[in-house]
Amino acid sequence: IDSRFPDMGTTIFTVMSRLAAECGAVNLSQGFPDFQAEPALFDAMHRHMLAGRNQYPPMAGLPELRQAIADKVAALYGTRFDVESEVTVTAGATQAIFTAVAAFVRPGDEVIVFEPVYDSYVPAIETVGGKAVHAQLQFPDYAPDWAQVASLITPKTRMIIVNSPHNPTGSLLTAADVDRLAELVRGTDIVILSDEVYEHILFDGERHVSLCGHPELAARTIVVSSFGKTYHITGWKIGYVVGPAALMAEFRKVHQFNVFTVHAPSQLAIAEYMQDASRHLGLAAFYQEKRDFFRQLMAATPFELLPCRGTYFQLARYDRISDLPDRAFAEWLTREVGVAVIPVSAFYADGRDDNVVRFCFAKREETLRAAVERLGKAF
Ligand code: PMP
Ligand code: GLN
Repeated sequence: IDSRFPDMGTTIFTVMSRLAAECGAVNLSQGFPDFQAEPALFDAMHRHMLAGRNQYPPMAGLPELRQAIADKVAALYGTRFDVESEVTVTAGATQAIFTAVAAFVRPGDEVIVFEPVYDSYVPAIETVGGKAVHAQLQFPDYAPDWAQVASLITPKTRMIIVNSPHNPTGSLLTAADVDRLAELVRGTDIVILSDEVYEHILFDGERHVSLCGHPELAARTIVVSSFGKTYHITGWKIGYVVGPAALMAEFRKVHQFNVFTVHAPSQLAIAEYMQDASRHLGLAAFYQEKRDFFRQLMAATPFELLPCRGTYFQLARYDRISDLPDRAFAEWLTREVGVAVIPVSAFYADGRDDNVVRFCFAKREETLRAAVERLGKAF
């Protein structure tokens, strides 16, 4: 076949999870919890199915869920989105990101992304004929360099994609960062896509700075979130976007012919589950305990841990252990030590390699302990 994407490989998350399964390794690579969500969520889904809520929901999502999303966003970030025209339920954040890119980026347009960059952004941009322009988050604190971003903006810049809390580095955008971004795009028609799927997972008392809480930026931003991260159900593939009506109308033009709408019983179950705000508000403390537990165990190994201010990922340098490139190191660690991780060079277009790997700590304590025991025996 004359492939349209001859250079596109398989996502690193599939590659590493498959290798972990093949080798019987403890899988700390792909980001997903290895523990169950609460039965109340499953009971609700079952009840709605039995009650016959099994046909097509409206294109933008069921009103019950859109209302719950609008209420949550207003309570947390102070912006009230219109349930009819400014909230759309999506099949996870990945679909939301792809749809947003397809809705706004024309062939030849430039989209600024920050490296290390989450692996779906650049393929989405390139699939619609756009050009990804890479700004750098600087090792080791991975903060944006706004002077560099300013130098990358051209008349062709159509979109900037930001992600906070940031996968894979766990860094956060501050209020000052968001003000700088607002200054840079003032007077342009640049659309911002803000990937906030880890909005509830921040540590040490840090507060999430949502772009939709910044009135000037909110007028040009689509914010993406995912229930997979928040309610421990990555396999349900359900998320949402909020944004001003004019942008949302464009988003929905693509959404309607992409997925049209999303699994009805999950929407109803989540709408119900969201009514108890402690479920998302308690997530930070829940994951901070796991982060601290994992970091404490890892302190006895030769890995050098980088700061982790949010997300459920921990970066670590391994130069005291090996001088292999990170992909080879991750493969070796999976095969020979029995712990699977993600090589961070996978998040760089040019394969830049700082000898850093990513561990996912969204796991039961016994899983984390088993992984670090294997590391302890090997090093
Ligand atoms: N963006 C980021 C930064 C992510 O880490 C992930 C998944 N872990 C996604 C988007 C995709 O989310 P979903 O599974 O809801 O498609
Ligand atoms: N976002 C998850 C991660 O960073 C993986 C999602 C996927 O496998 N596509 O590990």
